Amino acid sequence: MAKQPVLSLAGLSAGYFGTPVVRDLALTVQRGEVIALLGANGAGKTTTVNTIGGLLKPISGEVRLNGASVGGTPAHLLARKGVALVPENRALFPGLTTREHLRLAKSADGLSQQDLLELLPELTKCLDRRVGLLSGGEQQMLAMGRALMARPTLLIIDEMSMGLAPVIVERLLPVLRRAAEDLDTAVLLVEQHVSLALQVADRAYVLSHGRLVLSGHAASLREDRELLRKSYMGEL
Ligand code: ATP
Repeated sequence: MAKQPVLSLAGLSAGYFGTPVVRDLALTVQRGEVIALLGANGAGKTTTVNTIGGLLKPISGEVRLNGASVGGTPAHLLARKGVALVPENRALFPGLTTREHLRLAKSADGLSQQDLLELLPELTKCLDRRVGLLSGGEQQMLAMGRALMARPTLLIIDEMSMGLAPVIVERLLPVLRRAAEDLDTAVLLVEQHVSLALQVADRAYVLSHGRLVLSGHAASLREDRELLRKSYMGEL
């Protein structure tokens, strides 16, 4: 019998003021999987993840978490159910240190700071530095680490590579794999850097103009670059 997905979307339409920008989306993420949601600017990726994360209400269709319908549940309640969203802007406090961010994120059944530093040893040297003085890559590492403190069942990262050089992104990608493997988290990664995302993902979905145009195993999508290019450009 197939495992029940942590996240499943069915017939999901989402958008603004009742007008859908994403239509009829179906997608699943299992525990321990890294799934990439790909698409050009404006394809609807942020709208999708904000709807999953409870920042937007679905217009129609289903958002299920471990089989239970959660569409329209506000973000703070979804957080208690194990959903962690790292937004595009990372939402860090520049005047606080890394250690203070981790302390604020600590929860009773989550990771200790020591557990987190074993998972992300790169953060150790940043502990007593104010976040405003960290590099972009260190800030993104902290944003992901802070989200992992709660041991989320579903970790959603919007545009991990925003503003970062590809060489920095390559150093961040293994964090997602470690979260999936060591914490058994389901990871949904939104990316515009297709080839970087396909390096780490198990499977990927491609959105174009708000519709799902392609999905499959990352390995086969990596091989069929032309199909991927066409789907990305909305030419399928
Ligand atoms: P990007 O990488 O540029 O963020 P995206 O794939 O994440 O792209 P979305 O941000 O989800 O795309 O945008 C999808 C569509 O929804 C776009 O046409 C955008 O203009 C529109 N949109 C986004 N935010 C709003 C909003 N607050 N109100 C109205 N329309 C919006």
